[in-house]
Amino acid sequence: MSKTALITGSARGIGAAIALRLAKDGFNIALNDISEKSFEDNDIIEKITAPGVRCEKYIADVSSHDECAELAKKVKADFGTIDVLVNNAGITRDGLLLRMSEENYDDVIRINQKSVFNMTKHVGAVMLRQKSGRIVNLASVAGLYGNPGQMNYSASKGAVVAMTKTAAKELGSRGITVNAVAPGFIKTPMTDKLTEEQRAAMLKQIAMGRYGEPEEVASVVAFLCSDSASYVTGQTIEISGGLMM
Ligand code: NAD
Repeated sequence: MSKTALITGSARGIGAAIALRLAKDGFNIALNDISEKSFEDNDIIEKITAPGVRCEKYIADVSSHDECAELAKKVKADFGTIDVLVNNAGITRDGLLLRMSEENYDDVIRINQKSVFNMTKHVGAVMLRQKSGRIVNLASVAGLYGNPGQMNYSASKGAVVAMTKTAAKELGSRGITVNAVAPGFIKTPMTDKLTEEQRAAMLKQIAMGRYGEPEEVASVVAFLCSDSASYVTGQTIEISGGLMM
């Protein structure tokens, strides 16, 4: 296969698991993260060793419209096509509403939400010319149901669900599908920050009685990027072990 997948925020966590899985499925991989240090601290590049798979890394801040334009241009120039875009980069800056700073609100919206506009616009232009493509956005159960202490995060992820539907409607007739996944509690550096009390409270609500693994998100993303999902678009699939039903 000579198809290329670009995964934002893929130095670690769920993004790295998606990159590994798509490499195993035969995609060439364009990794992205905010800094060189993100890659130095993680071993994702060494892990992507599937035979015949090409892997390059690109440093870009996905909240920057200009950096995303440059990123899309470079990946297209290096690989020839961009067949899959996974908008995965994201942050949390949790705090109860009355204590949340304006900066923490704005940072989360910029990085989790505006990045999806930036990347979908610039990579979408490449896919429109190709008349094919798959876009998968990382939403969250917080964006569907709300979560105390996450006014900023739940707003950003709720918007990602709406943006997924809009992009699906705009791009569908050109052979491009746009879907989202909404993970629950997945074991990554992002959730390592939670207190034991927060983890225990979350665990009680999960029907399957355990947290999810990044690979369990990656396998659903891989399905949405595969030929098996050719008639699925505008959907948000929950991956939460039955957190909400
Ligand atoms: P993580 O913090 O482990 O990884 C996120 C990656 O994004 C990091 O490598 C980080 O450096 C990168 N990043 C941050 N800002 C960036 C920017 N401006 N430009 C480029 N890269 C940037 O997080 P994770 O748990 O792997 O989460 C991945 C995605 O899944 C996020 O969008 C997150 O909101 C979503 N999600 C995670 C969970 C969970 O339980 N872990 C649940 C629901 C949704």
